[in-house]
Amino acid sequence: MKTLKCDLCGVTADGETFEGWMQALMPHYMEAHADVMKDPSHGEEEKQKWMAENKARFDAV
Ligand SMILES: [Zn+2]
Repeated sequence: MKTLKCDLCGVTADGETFEGWMQALMPHYMEAHADVMKDPSHGEEEKQKWMAENKARFDAV
């Protein structure tokens, strides 16, 4: 089990895998960073970039 911080604030989420971590972080993201989620400039490309960056962070833990 790994613990990794949210990429936008200091809140942490736990996950056995990157996918699990993302699932654990999602409720926090919806609540604290809803504006980011709703930002229309965050299209599929941004999403892929976010996943790649955070996967790299997760793997580095
Ligand atoms: Zn956060």
